Amino acid sequence: MTELTVLKERVLRDGKCLPGGILKVDSFINHQLDPSLMMAIGNHLAQLFKDSGVNKILTIEASGIAPAITMGIATGLPVVFVKKAKPSTMGNALVSKVMSFTKGVEYTVSVSREFIGPDDRVVIIDDFLANGNAARGMIDIADQAGATVVGLGFVIEKVFQEGGKWLREQGYRVESLVRVESLDNCEIKLL
Ligand code: 5GP
Repeated sequence: MTELTVLKERVLRDGKCLPGGILKVDSFINHQLDPSLMMAIGNHLAQLFKDSGVNKILTIEASGIAPAITMGIATGLPVVFVKKAKPSTMGNALVSKVMSFTKGVEYTVSVSREFIGPDDRVVIIDDFLANGNAARGMIDIADQAGATVVGLGFVIEKVFQEGGKWLREQGYRVESLVRVESLDNCEIKLL
């Protein structure tokens, strides 16, 4: 069985729908982690972007970190994660605003200028793509840094929400390992 088939079967077996189009996968992605599945995810993302010229992986805490790290292990590239609160120790920061899909609040995200700059060609990684707000915040930070976004990789894309369409219309390369077509009637339908 291929890596992707294992991931899809796991989503179908252990994923749970919550009201509001939320897919709960906290037994293997969002709370408890399955390290070998995460390694497979990272290897797959590394393969997808191997010819993109990526030299840095950018993600957002918390749940983007695991797939970003395993992609980092597979590629040997550094991983920078956007913080959801600006630590007092972070001096010269790039900041943006993100509306949280699951919490429904807007928060300020930040990255130190020390770790992203004009020489960087970043792939943005996250666990989910829904309306694309987290991705937009990371793109905004990369733009402010003068970095190039060579693509975005997601473990799960919910195609019934707008993020993927918007990103592709803007000309970004978007790769999603699992694409959820619908969660209607609490049934998980994959593309
Ligand atoms: P977006 O910003 O694209 O609207 O939503 C992406 C972010 O919200 C991801 O970082 C992810 O943590 C969270 N998210 C969005 N949809 C879901 C979902 O269905 N399930 C879970 N567990 N997280 C989600």
